[in-house]
Amino acid sequence: MTAPLDEKLEPIYQDVLRRNPGETEFHQAVREVLETLGPVLVKYPEFAEHKVIQRICEPERQIIFRVPWEDDKGETHINRAFRVEFNSALGPYKGGLRFHPSVYLGIIKFLGFEQVFKNSLTGLPIGGGKGGSDFDPKGRSDSEIMRFCQSLMTELYRHLGEYTDVPAGDIGVGQREIGYLFGQYKRITNRYESAVFTGKGLDWGGSRARREATGYGTVYFVHEMLKARSEELDGKTCIVSGSGNVAIYAMQKAMQLGAKVIACSDSSGMVVDEKGIDLKLVRRIKEVERRRISVYAEEKKGARYIEDGNIWTIPCDVALPCATQNELTAKDAKKLVEQGCIAVAEGANMPTTPEGIRIFKDAGIAFGPGKAANAGGVATSALEMQQNASRDSWTFEFTEKRLEEIMVNIHNDCFETADEFGEPDNYVVGANIAGFLRVSRAMVAMGLI
Ligand code: NDP
Repeated sequence: MTAPLDEKLEPIYQDVLRRNPGETEFHQAVREVLETLGPVLVKYPEFAEHKVIQRICEPERQIIFRVPWEDDKGETHINRAFRVEFNSALGPYKGGLRFHPSVYLGIIKFLGFEQVFKNSLTGLPIGGGKGGSDFDPKGRSDSEIMRFCQSLMTELYRHLGEYTDVPAGDIGVGQREIGYLFGQYKRITNRYESAVFTGKGLDWGGSRARREATGYGTVYFVHEMLKARSEELDGKTCIVSGSGNVAIYAMQKAMQLGAKVIACSDSSGMVVDEKGIDLKLVRRIKEVERRRISVYAEEKKGARYIEDGNIWTIPCDVALPCATQNELTAKDAKKLVEQGCIAVAEGANMPTTPEGIRIFKDAGIAFGPGKAANAGGVATSALEMQQNASRDSWTFEFTEKRLEEIMVNIHNDCFETADEFGEPDNYVVGANIAGFLRVSRAMVAMGLI
């Protein structure tokens, strides 16, 4: 069951459905935003006049291309890659690349659409875009990954530039992949254009705290939501889905702020460790050895591994979905609420289904949507671009401080905007409207573009 749309917005949504058939994740992301924009059109009728919403729902440019590459046995493979340059009203397109077999245009468009609002919320000069490929990096050797990245960049490079489009990582794309991609970009263009990629290694233009930023930022956001309710993270029990980049550093910051993290997962199953997750072990298994999370229970006495286990059945105070889209359903949301969960913040993009979000809202628990709660990653990417532009390198402490300030500002902006539009405590409404207003004002100011 979805909420009805404002009468001005329903035809816009119908048009999105008609023009983008079969792209269900994109439809979901658009609908979730449109459901909250009715009051904005009442207050600011000029946005309807200038057809800003119709324009925001249509990417400025979409690039789809073939990526041929050879595996270690000499066999040829063909993948498909995408870059959706969604909106550049606030700055160059900015958003990650995802390598996962589930990737198709609808996933990249949902991510690009979300990115526009998220980047706007950071208050930094970055537009929104996203890209990726249906390539599956799992089980591939470093040389195979390198050949794939080089082939992809041989086409993608012509669309990038520090003032045009600046990719970063996402699922399946970490520092190793960014290295191969940046290396090929540099080789083809004969330019050391550091700010054309973010998430780089520290020796070659990367920012301290970028690796940690998304997970840390998500926890700062949940911390602020709890503070607004006179609660704190200290002493709370926490569960985190995933065990990739976002999940690992969300666990780390949650632990630093006094929470006890008792479960995490990967796409094969979950581990529960009532004594508290041993993060050093998770990092070794995932970051160094690139193995499955099941290894954790083999090596840790007292920990349980549950194949295909549903992490949302584990009782907790705070839940942080940090794996992938639509991983937390209505049934999961009900279970979390029943078992006493008081706060959820999305480290991943759109991990909660619309029905799940409604259950959290009705139960009155603090819910931080990904657009706001995981914006720390892209914000720190924009800080990386700043450092590259000024040939500077900031300390970890300074960068983390900036990240924390940005997350506090995003929280307050969402909180105050929700209040202003008559939906106190509704961070979904606050994030959508605050993100929308900044992009829309810029679009109107720039004329019909
Ligand atoms: P990683 O590839 O580092 O980790 C992804 C994790 O999620 C892995 O544990 C993976 O398990 C699990 N996962 C992926 N797909 C599925 C699936 N279909 N079902 C169950 N589990 C799955 O990615 P990130 O940590 O970078 O990204 C996680 C989420 O955070 C994504 O939604 C991403 O868009 C979002 N995000 C990331 C940012 C960043 O800075 N990296 C910034 C903002 C948002 P397995 O290894 O088994 O596949």
